[in-house]
Amino acid sequence: MINPFLFGAAVTASGGGAAGVSAKHAEANADRARSEVQHIEQRFDRLILVNMALWSLLQEKMGLTEQDLLDRVQEVDLADGQLDGKARKPVVKCPDCDRVMSSRHKRCLYCGAERLDHSAFDSAR
Ligand SMILES: [Zn+2]
Repeated sequence: MINPFLFGAAVTASGGGAAGVSAKHAEANADRARSEVQHIEQRFDRLILVNMALWSLLQEKMGLTEQDLLDRVQEVDLADGQLDGKARKPVVKCPDCDRVMSSRHKRCLYCGAERLDHSAFDSAR
């Protein structure tokens, strides 16, 4: 295994050149990746907090129990046929050309038709 501290020291000691530029580029990419991960972790923590608040409201106002929640989590998980801890988005076909639409794009990549959301979660996945 390569020790990153030794590798970094060797690159720095070489005085730059192509290896130095490449190492700086890799460092910049690593910094950007760390920043993106930190941002995602903050959003994830916020989502957990909001979900916990919503759940405590439902328990208090509706009298739901932890077992009710666990049962519903399993039901939603199984909706796609697999108990895998994920709520997969079903395949969506274009309303105009009937081709499979990308979940990452609001419009059909083939004909440009706008994807019609069928759920409040469609644009969140
Ligand atoms: Zn289309």
